Amino acid sequence: MTFELTKEQSMLLDLVREFSQNEVAPLAEEIDRSGRFPLETVEKMVKVGLFGLNIPESYGGVGMSEVCKVLAVSEMAKACASTAEMYAVQLLVNAIISMNGNDAQKKEYFGRTLKGELGAFALTEPGAGSDAGSLQTVAVKEGDHYVINGSKCFISNLGPEEGSYAIVIALTDPAKKTHGGMTAFLVDRDNPGFKVGKTEDKMGIRAAAVSELILEDCIVDEDHILGRVGDGFRIAMSGLDSGRIGIASQACGEAARALELAVEYSKQRKQFKKPISSNQGIQWYLSEMATDLEAARLLTLQAADLRDRKQPAGMNASMAKFFAAEMAVRVAGKALQIHGGYGFIKDYEIERIYRDARILTIYEGTSEVQKIVIAKNLLK
Ligand SMILES: Cc1cc2nc3c(=O)[nH]c(=O)nc-3n(C[C@H](O)[C@H](O)[C@H](O)COP(=O)(O)OP(=O)(O)OC[C@H]3O[C@@H](n4cnc5c(N)ncnc54)[C@H](O)[C@@H]3O)c2cc1C
Repeated sequence: MTFELTKEQSMLLDLVREFSQNEVAPLAEEIDRSGRFPLETVEKMVKVGLFGLNIPESYGGVGMSEVCKVLAVSEMAKACASTAEMYAVQLLVNAIISMNGNDAQKKEYFGRTLKGELGAFALTEPGAGSDAGSLQTVAVKEGDHYVINGSKCFISNLGPEEGSYAIVIALTDPAKKTHGGMTAFLVDRDNPGFKVGKTEDKMGIRAAAVSELILEDCIVDEDHILGRVGDGFRIAMSGLDSGRIGIASQACGEAARALELAVEYSKQRKQFKKPISSNQGIQWYLSEMATDLEAARLLTLQAADLRDRKQPAGMNASMAKFFAAEMAVRVAGKALQIHGGYGFIKDYEIERIYRDARILTIYEGTSEVQKIVIAKNLLK
């Protein structure tokens, strides 16, 4: 076992660090305030090869590992949580297509992604959140195509202008539900039955595009089925293992930035004629935050390493997501506390990080759902 980065991983980290500092961080405050999705950043990410990070080299990508994804997403999340969320969702979509797509689908959708077209993953519905098995969207076979009807909510990488295609999970055999009754479809935005509904106005990650998706008599050819008919629930759940590692990576990046800000501020802010960092109470906060963060990083890298070695990683992905998300909320809260009243003011970066961190315990399965997954694995 080694904890040292390989040459390839160090080079990637340097590239993403420089990119995030020069291109992502300078926009973070403006796009948070306006809620504007940073399309220009997508174009720049495509140019430096970041969109193809986990697309196989044979399809024009860089073919990097899950561990590399953790490093890249964490580094970007230090600069801007909204941008990191958009990126993590794209890497999730890439991973799902990589694992389940046929050659023609990979050529088409990877080709489009490498030009900067955004993909979404549409599972959640108004009545089916934590209980993904209760979804209502149906796909009915008519000849050589399917007709999809239903509505999805809270879909990332989908906005008034944003998003070019989505992986849609729908019921093809309602009686079977999670046991072979769901199918995954690749659905294009220019399909007349694909309608983007309300775009959400959010508390945090305000620049990430998150919208409703309405599927109305949406006709999709059979060749747009991802994997096989009936594979949808398995595809969604195995995709979520990778997605959860992505959220844990975001959590580590956001917490790392919160810790940096807290250290800097505590050294420079003076009360009672001395820096507040000279108080043991503040030092204990900082020590707790650093230890919490390091534990989350190790859990996240371990889950990613298991996936890279093709080992079962479901429980570890849930542990990493659960711990890292809760950790980021704790660390951001302590960092804000260390900033005192200034932490509550929008001029200070920690105010944004505190709001951005809050979603981490909710999407890609809430903390409660992660504990259900962990317990199922322990009790099986
Ligand atoms: C900004 C944002 C982006 C998102 N992006 C996407 C996306 O790209 N694609 C997508 O498909 N979805 C996406 N989601 C949806 C997200 O994954 C769901 O919100 C999440 O899974 C929770 O579902 P819910 O909101 O319906 O909450 P509910 O399932 O209604 O849960 C409400 C509360 O009850 C708890 N609860 C539920 N069941 C249990 C139980 N059995 N035991 C204990 N507690 C329980 C939950 O943990 C939670 O605390 C996004 C959501 C947001 C807010």
